[in-house]
Amino acid sequence: MKTNGADDKTYLGIPLYRPRVAFFEFTSCEGCQLQILNNEGTLLDFLSLVEVVAFREAMTEKSDDYEIAFIEGSITRDDEVERLKKIRKKAKVLVALGSCACFGGVNQLKNRFHDLIAVNKMVYGEHPVNSGLVRPLCDIVKVDMQIFGCPVKKEEVEKIVINLALGKSIVLPKYPVCMECKANENICLFEQGEPCLGPITRAGCDSWCPNNKAGCWGCRGPADDANVEQMKKVMKDLGFSDETIMDRLECFGGFQTDEKNGQR
Ligand code: SF4
Ligand code: SF4
Ligand code: SF4
Repeated sequence: MKTNGADDKTYLGIPLYRPRVAFFEFTSCEGCQLQILNNEGTLLDFLSLVEVVAFREAMTEKSDDYEIAFIEGSITRDDEVERLKKIRKKAKVLVALGSCACFGGVNQLKNRFHDLIAVNKMVYGEHPVNSGLVRPLCDIVKVDMQIFGCPVKKEEVEKIVINLALGKSIVLPKYPVCMECKANENICLFEQGEPCLGPITRAGCDSWCPNNKAGCWGCRGPADDANVEQMKKVMKDLGFSDETIMDRLECFGGFQTDEKNGQR
């Protein structure tokens, strides 16, 4: 695999420029990277637009010569902080890939516990791991772009990469999941006694969960002007317990609801 980005691909005789991209994982389940590889139907087209120089899930070759770094996962260890800073120095564009990278994701549930030493012991027993508070990438380095979702939606990643390669602007939806849900003609889950964060969550997943009769858990974080307090009130008025409401709002870390969790 070439690593200089200026390979011999042409269109109408004009040499094409393919940005060199690298994928890295930190504390994560690696599901977001898997999503990209899952899209077999369009994977070859996608790869023709960029030159992948590092992608541990997909290839053994690797190079430090990249322009765009896609980073999956949150930061929980000191060595991860150093590694992330090194990647930031090399990359022209650093993209947070998935909710773990954007705002901690499910990992940040650990931050609910005050005694992290006890948590470490409970999880790792006699083989402790140096793992502290969960932090999103933006706590440590400048993040140029965020791709939300747990996991990310592969079509959205491809669209963003195509726009990056073509130098086109990238516009993420600002409106809530409810807009997509209504367009998909779903019956509102609240009508069926199910909680749903669709009114305050950023769209872009095509209302994935409500389409499958499951309420939204807010994995893409808040829509613009999301009124979290009003959402809580509506859910409470509908009879949902404080615990149910908090569990849902805190699951992915996109909605900072609890002062004790304000370590970001
Ligand atoms: S955002 Fe979700 S799917 Fe992606 S790495 Fe984190 S836990 Fe896995
Ligand atoms: S099911 Fe959820 S996303 Fe759909 S309309 Fe109701 S609140 Fe909005
Ligand atoms: S409906 Fe909500 S929880 Fe489900 S994928 Fe979309 S944003 Fe994530």
